[in-house]
This record gives sequence, structure tokens and C-alpha cells, in this order.
Amino acid sequence: MTAPMGTERRPPDAALGNDLVMRASDVSVEYAGPRPTRAVRDVSLELRRGEVLGIVGESGCGKSTLAYALTRMLRPPARMTGGVIEYFDRDGSAVDLGSLGGEELRAFRWEKISMVFQSAMNALNPVTGIGSQMEDVFRTHRPGMDRSARRARCAELLEMVGIDPRRLRSYPHELSGGMRQRVVIAMALALEPQIVVMDEPTTALDVLVQREILDEIERLRAQLGFSVVFITHDLALLLEISDRLAVMYAGRFVEYAPAEQVAGAARHPYTRGLLRSFPDLRGERREMRGVPGSPPDLRHTLTGCPFAPRCESVFEPCHTVAPRLLAPAGSWPVACHLHDRRFAVAQTDGDGR
Ligand code: ADP
Repeated sequence: MTAPMGTERRPPDAALGNDLVMRASDVSVEYAGPRPTRAVRDVSLELRRGEVLGIVGESGCGKSTLAYALTRMLRPPARMTGGVIEYFDRDGSAVDLGSLGGEELRAFRWEKISMVFQSAMNALNPVTGIGSQMEDVFRTHRPGMDRSARRARCAELLEMVGIDPRRLRSYPHELSGGMRQRVVIAMALALEPQIVVMDEPTTALDVLVQREILDEIERLRAQLGFSVVFITHDLALLLEISDRLAVMYAGRFVEYAPAEQVAGAARHPYTRGLLRSFPDLRGERREMRGVPGSPPDLRHTLTGCPFAPRCESVFEPCHTVAPRLLAPAGSWPVACHLHDRRFAVAQTDGDGR
């Protein structure tokens, strides 16, 4: 991790108010190797208190790597090669995540920010009871808490995620996948963090259970007020649960928009392709066309727009000039030359792109 170390706590930007809970600026992550993989490229995001920020993209576009960077959980060969990630506490003070080390970082991870992975439900220890595993969080982070208080809190947490507290005595194999994932969510919420990063938290579950768990997350978020970074390849799902969403392609954000506006007015051809990739929510089944082709190999140097080889609207500058994430007046940021004033096409194509 090469984010600037040793940065002191400082007050947040006055202009931002206390509404912001996290800000990532120009974050880049590389996996070292004979040909390094530039998995995350200059990504910037802001997370507001209580909001759900969705991050969507096909497999291999850098979503998980970004999630690990945001929680400072990158392990070699991954390393952050640039950028700053700041966390804003309730009292308005700012912490540069890169400045945290050892104990401070460990505490930070559960107390302020926690993470739920797709495979987390399988990471529960098979030979230890659920209750004991939940209690471990308190044993580690609340050493002063006595046994009965720990147990009471674990029972409360299980109940909060819709599981009978008597299940504290169960072993992971005695619970369904959905229940195990609820246990993991309960653990992530144990210390009341302000941010929960969820990486495909429901993907391994069947559709009905997935729906129940999403409703549960939404209910808990409304009740407890934490913010969520929700990562998935499923844009339909994100449109439902996100306040804002970022579309990621080849390590970059290519569109960063209010979720309710994207369905009808997506600007990036990749986003529009993703929107065509699932059946209409109103029940009218459409052809699952997806986006033909596949994303580029992130070990290669990318020239021009990385989406150009797959883009239905490709034109000359796309092959040579890398698009920047720009917000046209009155709109949201999009990295596409169709919307860049320097390339007049956007002004002449009349199809609302
Ligand atoms: P996503 O979550 O969108 O599927 P990832 O963040 O997992 O994407 O991967 C982004 C890129 O980083 C991919 O090209 C992937 O091959 C590469 N990558 C992921 N993990 C490793 C690793 N441990 N070592 C080397 N490359 C990796």
C-alpha cells in the first residue's frame, strides 16, 4: 500500500459539510507481476451518510479490487499505486486511511467500516458455533464487555437480521446459505460501522432468498443509518437499491449517476448495453443480448477508449484519445467522447445520448 502514510487527522472540507462519510480521490491499484495488472485506474468517489452507492460492471473490471482498496484490505501482489481515501467521522474529523497502521487499522475496519463478501458465508468456521464466532468480534474489539452482555448483544443481532436467537448454538452447516449470509451481515453490523462494503453479497443465493436479504439490508440501513457500497455485476438489482451508481469498465468509472435516472437516460454506450442485458422489469421478456465481446486485458496498455472495440457508437477519436470522466452542464459524469464538447458529435446526434 503506497497511499501517503502519516497524514494527520484534519477537519473536512468546509464546503462538503458533514454529509460525506468517505471520499476516494484518484485511487489506482496494481497487481505486481511480469506484466502488472492495472486493476483500478484513477477512481474517485464520494459516499454520503446513509446512501447506497452501487458499483456495477462485468467480471474482471476491478470492482472487488476497489472494494479491497476502500477497506484497506489489499494484500500483495496488489498495492495501491496512487490516490487518497478519506473517511469522515460523525464529529466531522477526517482520517486518511493510508495513515492508519496496525491496531488502529484493525479497529477501524470493524468499528467504522466493515465488509461482506459473496463467499463470506462459506468463510464461517465449520467447527465453531455461530454464537461463539459472533462473540469473537466483541472479545476482540470490546474486551471490557462481559460474557452475558456479549451473548445478549449477539442474540439481539441475530434477531435483527431475522434469525431466531436460539440459533446461536447452531453450527454453520445447520443453517441455510441465506441464513449464513444473514449471520455474516449481523457480524458486519456488530460494532455499528458507518460504512458497509458489500461485494456480491447475494449472488450465491437463489432469487427468493436474495430478495429477502436485500429487503433486510434496506430495512437495516433505514433503521441504523449506515452507508453502503454495493458491488455487483447485476445492474437491474442496483437500479432498485442504489441512490447513485457507478458503472465500471476496465478499471475506471465510465458513468456515475443518480440511479433513478440511469434506467431511462443512460449516457454511456456500455451502460446502455448493460441495461439491455436483462429482461424488462415489467415482465416483458427481451432478448438477453448483453454486450458482445469481452473487456480488455488489464495487463496491456490501453490506447484510446477501452470500450471502443465493443462500442456500437464508436467514432474516430475513440481509437486514439482516452475519454475523461466529464460532467456536461446539468448532467452527471460520463467518460465518453459522444458527450465531450471537444468532439462535436454529441451536439448533433439527436437520440438523447
Ligand atoms: P471484478 O471484481 O470486477 O470481477 P477484480 O477486481 O476481481 O474484478 O479483478 C480486476 C483485475 O485484476 C482482473 O484483470 C483480474 O484478473 C486482476 N486480479 C484480481 N485478483 C488478482 C490477483 N490476486 N493477482 C493478479 N491479478 C488479479
